[in-house]
Amino acid sequence: MKVKLSLLAVLLLTVPASAFQAGASKRDVTPSLDRPVFIAGFGHNRIATSVHDPIWVRCLAISDGKSTVALVGIDVIGFFYEPDVLSVRERVGQLTKKPVTVVIASTHNHEGPDTLGLWGPMPLQTGRDEKYMAWLKEEIAQCVIDAVSRLEPARFIIAKDERKELSDLQLDTRLPHVKDHAVYVLQAVSRKTGKTIGTLVNWANHPEVLGSKNREITSDFCWALYERLEELVGGVAVFWNGAIGGLITPLDEEVKVIDPQIGQPAPEASFRKAELIGKFVAEVAAEALKSKNATKVDNGSLKVLLRPLFVPLQNTRFRIAAAIGVLKRPVYTKGKIDERLETVELKQDGTIIKAKMVAGEDIRTEVGVIAIYSREQKNPMALLLLIPGEIYPELVYGNITRYQGADFMDAPFEPILMDYARKTGARFVFVVGLANDEIGYIIPQCEWDEQPPWLNNATQRPYGEVNSVGWKAARIVNEGLVALIKTLMR
Ligand SMILES: [Zn+2]
Repeated sequence: MKVKLSLLAVLLLTVPASAFQAGASKRDVTPSLDRPVFIAGFGHNRIATSVHDPIWVRCLAISDGKSTVALVGIDVIGFFYEPDVLSVRERVGQLTKKPVTVVIASTHNHEGPDTLGLWGPMPLQTGRDEKYMAWLKEEIAQCVIDAVSRLEPARFIIAKDERKELSDLQLDTRLPHVKDHAVYVLQAVSRKTGKTIGTLVNWANHPEVLGSKNREITSDFCWALYERLEELVGGVAVFWNGAIGGLITPLDEEVKVIDPQIGQPAPEASFRKAELIGKFVAEVAAEALKSKNATKVDNGSLKVLLRPLFVPLQNTRFRIAAAIGVLKRPVYTKGKIDERLETVELKQDGTIIKAKMVAGEDIRTEVGVIAIYSREQKNPMALLLLIPGEIYPELVYGNITRYQGADFMDAPFEPILMDYARKTGARFVFVVGLANDEIGYIIPQCEWDEQPPWLNNATQRPYGEVNSVGWKAARIVNEGLVALIKTLMR
């Protein structure tokens, strides 16, 4: 008896309550092609003909013994807060008694199934297959449960790499030219075996290398990133996107990637180009983990703050989509679900058509922050900002710009996220796009432009507004995040 007790004491000493834990899991969630699969992201009626590589749900669960957070990445265009994220959370709650905060970020893959309903056979016809969605949600929940059931004592390694070559892979297609080209990495390593449990890579770019003509299901550059990273470091690789609005893309002749096998750029919109980008980012991430700036943390704590928000649904096209059930999410007025309809007149090809539109004002979404603290320091080692869509980078890093022709040229600037994130003293700030929702582009009000004259006297309307909920979203999202950062610092 005495021996047993002393053994227990030793165990308790080696695994203090504040030691971190981690577990990881991945599941293949490729849709069956027995039913038509509409590929999301470009035009309509792009039906998949084959599968090049699988679509994944990947989860790295981290815990400080008290709080457990499941960091989930999925290779889809987007995943709505309501009903989808909330129903996965509910299901996880049914499957485990352990409190787990589930954070789901889409990679924004433009070569996978339509999970939002916007890329069906024709405009305003859904491409979302509810049977697939139900299965996908169950698989996400099971993947979270697998990861959480594998929690074991872990060390975190947090690192960053900002070599210039990363920037060459990101074309910024709209003024002002602001972007973050750095790769951020959070790795969990087993303290028992020294082996990698999982590695989360955070980088900003549209996974759309294959372009609008491809009909083979793929996770775009993510596939090569996962494969190469797992080959190099083991464990489960997870990818989270960054601030990709306005819009950050590798899909352009200007983004040349030299294929070492032929000494020339890989063909535009090719699997080879996607492969080279994914592999490169994986190699950068693996090197970052070995670099001088890589920081190891064994003991400490996690703080997770989530805040639901209502964002006005100003986009007429989205309101019509919501009215006819193509946009499958509830619309609210003053916090209550509102199903009233209004008739609007729309101009299409010069003719006026009448359409029904939801009268409700808002959609419900969420912002969040995750902070990882080491036991030795007061300031967070890493801060993760959870942003529910594709934020214009100037709203994160600064340099919001006033242009002639903007609809609200004199509008006040929204608060800049980094100004507040830096005040926390966090060593690493991960900016996570499409986290727990995809509300579309999040655009500074003073850069908003739906009415001519166009920005900077351009001859064409800028791209972005058509896929945004509206100009009010940016202030609400940024103020919501700022409030969470301030709460964190209290
Ligand atoms: Zn996008």
